[in-house]
Amino acid sequence: MNWLNDITPPGIKKMFRQQDDSQDTLWTRCPACDHMTFNNDLEQEQHVCPNCGHHMAIGAVDRLNHLLGEGWERIDLPETKDDPLKFKDTKPYTSRLRDYRKKSGEHDALVVGKGELGGRKVVVAVQNFKFMGGSMGTAIGEGLLTAADEAVKSRAALIVVTASGGARMQEGILSLMQMPRSTLAVQMVQGEGLPYVVVLTNPTTGGVTASYAMLGDVHLAEPGALIGFAGPRVIEQTIREKLPEDFQRAEYLLDKGMIDRVTDRRKLAEELGAILSVLMEPQEGAAAQPEEQPEEQPIVIEDESYSAPKQDEAANDQPPLSEAMAKAAE
Ligand SMILES: [Zn+2]
Repeated sequence: MNWLNDITPPGIKKMFRQQDDSQDTLWTRCPACDHMTFNNDLEQEQHVCPNCGHHMAIGAVDRLNHLLGEGWERIDLPETKDDPLKFKDTKPYTSRLRDYRKKSGEHDALVVGKGELGGRKVVVAVQNFKFMGGSMGTAIGEGLLTAADEAVKSRAALIVVTASGGARMQEGILSLMQMPRSTLAVQMVQGEGLPYVVVLTNPTTGGVTASYAMLGDVHLAEPGALIGFAGPRVIEQTIREKLPEDFQRAEYLLDKGMIDRVTDRRKLAEELGAILSVLMEPQEGAAAQPEEQPEEQPIVIEDESYSAPKQDEAANDQPPLSEAMAKAAE
Protein backbone atom coordinates (compact mmCIF):
# COMPACT_ATOMS: atom_id res chain seq x y z
CA MET A 1 0.00 0.00 0.00
CA ASN A 2 3.04 2.26 -0.16
CA TRP A 3 2.00 3.69 -3.53
CA LEU A 4 -1.32 4.76 -1.94
CA ASN A 5 0.47 6.54 0.88
CA ASP A 6 2.60 8.35 -1.69
CA ILE A 7 -0.33 9.81 -3.54
CA THR A 8 -2.51 10.60 -0.47
CA PRO A 9 -2.38 14.32 0.39
CA PRO A 10 -0.83 14.97 3.86
CA GLY A 11 -4.05 16.52 5.18
CA ILE A 12 -6.00 13.33 4.57
CA LYS A 13 -3.23 11.14 6.06
CA LYS A 14 -3.33 13.24 9.22
CA MET A 15 -7.09 12.92 9.45
CA PHE A 16 -6.90 9.14 9.40
CA ARG A 17 -3.97 8.98 11.79
CA GLN A 18 -5.80 11.10 14.34
CA GLN A 19 -8.75 8.76 14.19
CA ASP A 20 -6.46 5.78 14.82
CA ASP A 21 -4.78 7.49 17.77
CA SER A 22 -8.09 8.25 19.45
CA GLN A 23 -9.12 4.61 19.08
CA ASP A 24 -5.88 3.57 20.75
CA THR A 25 -6.27 5.88 23.68
CA LEU A 26 -9.97 5.40 24.42
CA TRP A 27 -9.79 1.72 25.30
CA THR A 28 -7.24 -0.51 26.94
CA ARG A 29 -6.94 -4.24 26.34
CA CYS A 30 -6.21 -6.35 29.41
CA PRO A 31 -3.01 -8.32 28.77
CA ALA A 32 -4.34 -11.22 30.86
CA CYS A 33 -7.88 -11.74 29.51
CA ASP A 34 -8.08 -9.46 26.42
CA HIS A 35 -11.07 -7.66 27.89
CA MET A 36 -11.44 -4.13 26.49
CA THR A 37 -12.07 -1.47 29.11
CA PHE A 38 -12.96 2.16 28.54
CA ASN A 39 -10.00 4.19 29.82
CA ASN A 40 -12.12 6.36 32.11
CA ASP A 41 -13.51 3.22 33.76
CA LEU A 42 -10.03 1.75 34.04
CA GLU A 43 -8.82 4.85 35.85
CA GLN A 44 -11.75 4.55 38.25
CA GLU A 45 -10.61 0.98 38.91
CA GLN A 46 -7.00 2.14 39.49
CA HIS A 47 -5.90 0.17 36.41
CA VAL A 48 -7.18 -3.15 37.72
CA CYS A 49 -9.02 -5.11 35.01
CA PRO A 50 -12.74 -5.14 36.00
CA ASN A 51 -13.16 -8.48 34.24
CA CYS A 52 -10.33 -10.62 35.67
CA GLY A 53 -8.69 -8.47 38.37
CA HIS A 54 -5.33 -8.31 36.59
CA HIS A 55 -3.23 -5.48 38.04
CA MET A 56 -1.76 -3.36 35.24
CA ALA A 57 1.22 -1.09 35.69
CA ILE A 58 0.50 2.44 36.93
CA GLY A 59 2.65 5.55 37.13
CA ALA A 60 4.26 6.79 40.33
CA VAL A 61 2.18 9.96 40.50
CA ASP A 62 -1.07 8.03 39.96
CA ARG A 63 -0.01 5.71 42.77
CA LEU A 64 0.56 8.63 45.14
CA ASN A 65 -2.83 10.09 44.15
CA HIS A 66 -4.53 6.78 44.93
CA LEU A 67 -2.80 6.38 48.29
CA LEU A 68 -2.73 9.95 49.58
CA GLY A 69 -5.55 11.69 47.71
CA GLU A 70 -4.91 14.90 45.83
CA GLY A 71 -3.45 16.78 48.80
CA TRP A 72 0.03 15.24 48.93
CA GLU A 73 3.21 17.24 48.73
CA ARG A 74 6.14 16.25 46.52
CA ILE A 75 9.52 16.01 48.24
CA ASP A 76 12.41 17.28 46.14
CA LEU A 77 15.17 14.73 45.80
CA PRO A 78 18.84 15.66 45.59
CA GLU A 79 20.36 15.47 42.14
CA THR A 80 23.08 12.89 41.76
CA LYS A 81 25.96 12.78 39.33
CA ASP A 82 24.84 11.46 35.96
CA ASP A 83 26.87 8.69 34.41
CA PRO A 84 29.75 8.48 36.90
CA LEU A 85 31.34 5.56 35.00
CA LYS A 86 30.94 7.06 31.48
CA PHE A 87 29.04 3.92 30.58
CA LYS A 88 28.16 3.09 27.01
CA ASP A 89 26.46 0.01 25.60
CA THR A 90 24.52 0.32 22.35
CA LYS A 91 23.82 3.88 23.45
CA PRO A 92 25.56 6.18 25.97
CA TYR A 93 23.96 6.09 29.44
CA THR A 94 23.55 9.88 29.37
CA SER A 95 21.39 9.73 26.26
CA ARG A 96 19.30 6.91 27.76
CA LEU A 97 18.75 9.07 30.83
CA ARG A 98 17.82 12.04 28.65
CA ASP A 99 15.22 9.97 26.75
CA TYR A 100 13.60 8.56 29.88
CA ARG A 101 13.52 11.98 31.53
CA LYS A 102 11.83 13.47 28.49
CA LYS A 103 9.32 10.62 28.26
CA SER A 104 8.43 10.47 31.96
CA GLY A 105 8.88 14.09 33.00
CA GLU A 106 10.69 12.75 36.08
CA HIS A 107 14.37 13.04 36.96
CA ASP A 108 14.79 9.37 37.89
CA ALA A 109 12.89 6.23 38.84
CA LEU A 110 11.79 7.33 42.34
CA VAL A 111 9.04 9.78 43.27
CA VAL A 112 8.56 10.71 46.93
CA GLY A 113 5.53 12.42 48.41
CA LYS A 114 4.29 13.13 51.89
CA GLY A 115 0.75 13.34 53.12
CA GLU A 116 -1.73 11.60 55.32
CA LEU A 117 -3.09 8.08 55.29
CA GLY A 118 -5.87 7.10 57.66
CA GLY A 119 -5.09 10.06 59.93
CA ARG A 120 -1.38 9.19 60.14
CA LYS A 121 1.52 11.12 58.67
CA VAL A 122 3.28 9.18 55.94
CA VAL A 123 6.15 9.60 53.53
CA VAL A 124 5.59 7.43 50.46
CA ALA A 125 8.38 6.57 48.02
CA VAL A 126 7.22 5.03 44.73
CA GLN A 127 9.43 3.34 42.18
CA ASN A 128 8.48 3.93 38.57
CA PHE A 129 9.06 0.79 36.52
CA LYS A 130 8.65 2.73 33.29
CA PHE A 131 11.83 4.66 34.06
CA MET A 132 14.64 2.26 33.05
CA GLY A 133 12.81 -0.67 34.62
CA GLY A 134 12.73 1.07 38.01
CA SER A 135 16.40 0.19 38.29
CA MET A 136 18.27 1.11 41.46
CA GLY A 137 21.08 3.57 40.88
CA THR A 138 22.55 6.30 43.05
CA ALA A 139 19.44 8.44 42.49
CA ILE A 140 17.23 5.80 44.15
CA GLY A 141 19.62 5.36 47.08
CA GLU A 142 19.78 9.12 47.57
CA GLY A 143 16.01 9.39 47.19
CA LEU A 144 15.35 6.71 49.81
CA LEU A 145 17.72 8.39 52.26
CA THR A 146 15.90 11.69 51.69
CA ALA A 147 12.53 9.98 52.19
CA ALA A 148 13.76 8.31 55.40
CA ASP A 149 15.16 11.62 56.65
CA GLU A 150 11.84 13.33 55.98
CA ALA A 151 9.95 10.54 57.78
CA VAL A 152 12.19 10.89 60.85
CA LYS A 153 11.95 14.71 60.86
CA SER A 154 8.19 14.77 60.61
CA ARG A 155 7.62 11.63 62.75
CA ALA A 156 5.91 9.91 59.84
CA ALA A 157 5.72 6.30 58.70
CA LEU A 158 7.74 5.37 55.64
CA ILE A 159 5.98 3.40 52.91
CA VAL A 160 7.93 2.21 49.89
CA VAL A 161 6.10 0.92 46.82
CA THR A 162 8.61 -1.18 44.90
CA ALA A 163 8.74 -2.01 41.18
CA SER A 164 12.17 -2.77 39.87
CA GLY A 165 14.26 -5.08 37.78
CA GLY A 166 17.12 -4.65 40.27
CA ALA A 167 20.38 -2.72 40.23
CA ARG A 168 21.15 -0.34 37.35
CA MET A 169 23.96 -1.96 35.43
CA GLN A 170 25.04 1.35 33.89
CA GLU A 171 26.23 2.43 37.35
CA GLY A 172 28.09 -0.80 38.09
CA ILE A 173 29.38 -1.18 41.64
CA LEU A 174 27.85 2.19 42.59
CA SER A 175 24.37 0.78 42.06
CA LEU A 176 25.21 -2.23 44.25
CA MET A 177 26.35 0.22 46.94
CA GLN A 178 22.74 1.40 47.13
CA MET A 179 21.82 -1.88 48.83
CA PRO A 180 23.61 -1.02 52.11
CA ARG A 181 22.67 2.67 51.72
CA SER A 182 18.98 1.90 51.41
CA THR A 183 19.31 -0.51 54.34
CA LEU A 184 20.69 2.39 56.39
CA ALA A 185 17.70 4.50 55.34
CA VAL A 186 15.37 1.78 56.64
CA GLN A 187 17.33 1.50 59.90
CA MET A 188 17.09 5.28 60.42
CA VAL A 189 13.30 5.03 60.33
CA GLN A 190 12.99 1.85 62.38
CA GLY A 191 15.55 3.13 64.91
CA GLU A 192 13.19 6.02 65.65
CA GLY A 193 10.35 3.59 66.34
CA LEU A 194 8.54 4.61 63.17
CA PRO A 195 6.85 2.00 60.95
CA TYR A 196 8.38 0.99 57.65
CA VAL A 197 5.91 -0.73 55.33
CA VAL A 198 6.72 -2.22 51.93
CA VAL A 199 4.21 -2.64 49.12
CA LEU A 200 5.63 -5.05 46.54
CA THR A 201 4.28 -4.60 43.03
CA ASN A 202 4.95 -6.35 39.75
CA PRO A 203 7.87 -6.90 39.27
CA THR A 204 10.24 -6.56 42.24
CA THR A 205 13.45 -8.43 41.58
CA GLY A 206 17.24 -8.41 41.92
CA GLY A 207 19.12 -6.15 44.32
CA VAL A 208 15.93 -4.38 45.39
CA THR A 209 14.52 -7.66 46.74
CA ALA A 210 17.88 -8.26 48.39
CA SER A 211 17.71 -4.98 50.32
CA TYR A 212 14.98 -2.52 51.30
CA ALA A 213 12.09 -4.44 49.69
CA MET A 214 12.41 -7.24 52.25
CA LEU A 215 13.17 -5.22 55.39
CA GLY A 216 9.70 -3.90 56.17
CA ASP A 217 7.80 -4.25 59.42
CA VAL A 218 4.89 -5.33 57.24
CA HIS A 219 5.00 -6.55 53.63
CA LEU A 220 2.00 -6.23 51.36
CA ALA A 221 1.99 -7.33 47.74
CA GLU A 222 -0.34 -6.77 44.83
CA PRO A 223 -2.03 -9.89 43.40
CA GLY A 224 0.06 -11.76 40.84
CA ALA A 225 3.17 -9.62 41.40
CA LEU A 226 6.46 -11.27 40.47
CA ILE A 227 8.79 -11.03 43.47
CA GLY A 228 12.16 -12.69 43.65
CA PHE A 229 15.92 -12.32 43.49
CA ALA A 230 17.04 -14.40 40.51
CA GLY A 231 14.62 -15.30 37.71
CA PRO A 232 12.94 -18.74 37.62
CA ARG A 233 14.95 -19.90 34.58
CA VAL A 234 18.27 -19.31 36.33
CA ILE A 235 17.05 -21.14 39.42
CA GLU A 236 15.75 -24.07 37.37
CA GLN A 237 19.09 -24.42 35.64
CA THR A 238 20.94 -24.27 38.94
CA ILE A 239 18.87 -26.73 40.98
CA ARG A 240 17.85 -28.83 37.94
CA GLU A 241 14.29 -29.16 39.07
CA LYS A 242 11.00 -28.01 37.59
CA LEU A 243 9.59 -25.09 39.54
CA PRO A 244 5.88 -24.73 40.37
CA GLU A 245 3.87 -22.57 37.96
CA ASP A 246 3.11 -19.77 40.40
CA PHE A 247 6.70 -19.70 41.69
CA GLN A 248 7.79 -16.21 42.83
CA ARG A 249 4.26 -14.84 42.53
CA ALA A 250 2.76 -12.87 45.44
CA GLU A 251 0.28 -15.63 46.37
CA TYR A 252 3.04 -18.26 46.45
CA LEU A 253 5.18 -16.06 48.71
CA LEU A 254 2.22 -15.50 51.02
CA ASP A 255 1.74 -19.25 51.22
CA LYS A 256 5.42 -19.68 52.14
CA GLY A 257 5.34 -16.92 54.75
CA MET A 258 7.60 -14.49 52.90
CA ILE A 259 5.03 -11.70 52.85
CA ASP A 260 2.16 -10.76 55.13
CA ARG A 261 -0.72 -10.04 52.80
CA VAL A 262 -1.78 -9.94 49.19
CA THR A 263 -3.90 -6.85 48.79
CA ASP A 264 -6.04 -5.67 45.89
CA ARG A 265 -4.82 -2.25 44.73
CA ARG A 266 -8.27 -0.75 45.21
CA LYS A 267 -8.14 -1.65 48.91
CA LEU A 268 -4.50 -0.73 49.45
CA ALA A 269 -5.02 2.74 50.96
CA GLU A 270 -7.63 1.40 53.35
CA GLU A 271 -5.46 -1.53 54.50
CA LEU A 272 -2.34 0.60 54.89
CA GLY A 273 -4.36 3.05 56.96
CA ALA A 274 -5.62 0.21 59.14
CA ILE A 275 -2.10 -1.17 59.66
CA LEU A 276 -0.69 2.25 60.53
CA SER A 277 -3.53 2.81 63.00
CA VAL A 278 -2.12 -0.11 64.99
CA LEU A 279 1.54 0.78 64.56
CA MET A 280 1.49 4.49 65.38
CA GLU A 281 -0.30 7.34 67.10
CA PRO A 282 -2.61 9.48 64.98
CA GLN A 283 -1.50 12.88 63.76
CA GLU A 284 -2.35 15.75 66.11
CA GLY A 285 -5.75 17.17 65.27
CA ALA A 286 -6.65 14.21 63.09
CA ALA A 287 -10.11 12.70 63.28
CA ALA A 288 -8.96 9.25 64.35
CA GLN A 289 -8.60 8.70 68.08
CA PRO A 290 -5.53 7.03 69.59
CA GLU A 291 -5.92 3.48 70.77
CA GLU A 292 -4.83 3.10 74.39
CA GLN A 293 -3.01 -0.19 74.00
CA PRO A 294 -2.59 -0.80 70.32
CA GLU A 295 -0.22 -3.70 70.84
CA GLU A 296 -3.07 -5.77 72.26
CA GLN A 297 -4.93 -5.66 68.97
CA PRO A 298 -3.79 -8.71 67.04
CA ILE A 299 -3.17 -8.42 63.32
CA VAL A 300 -5.41 -11.11 61.98
CA ILE A 301 -4.70 -12.56 58.60
CA GLU A 302 -7.85 -13.68 56.79
CA ASP A 303 -6.13 -15.81 54.22
CA GLU A 304 -6.60 -19.47 55.05
CA SER A 305 -3.19 -20.29 53.66
CA TYR A 306 -1.51 -18.45 56.47
CA SER A 307 -1.63 -19.64 60.04
CA ALA A 308 0.57 -18.47 62.83
CA PRO A 309 1.75 -21.19 65.19
CA LYS A 310 -0.42 -21.66 68.31
CA GLN A 311 -2.89 -19.05 67.07
CA ASP A 312 -4.88 -21.21 64.68
CA GLU A 313 -8.02 -21.33 66.74
CA ALA A 314 -7.87 -17.73 67.80
CA ALA A 315 -7.33 -16.63 64.19
CA ASN A 316 -10.40 -18.50 63.00
CA ASP A 317 -12.59 -16.64 65.46
CA GLN A 318 -11.21 -13.24 64.50
CA PRO A 319 -12.67 -10.86 61.93
CA PRO A 320 -10.59 -10.07 58.84
CA LEU A 321 -7.80 -7.50 59.04
CA SER A 322 -9.90 -4.57 57.86
CA GLU A 323 -12.56 -5.12 60.53
CA ALA A 324 -10.05 -5.67 63.32
CA MET A 325 -8.16 -2.58 62.30
CA ALA A 326 -11.26 -0.46 61.90
CA LYS A 327 -12.20 -1.39 65.45
CA ALA A 328 -8.75 -0.31 66.63
CA ALA A 329 -9.12 3.02 64.88
CA GLU A 330 -12.51 3.82 66.44
ZN1 LIG B 1 -8.46 -8.87 32.48
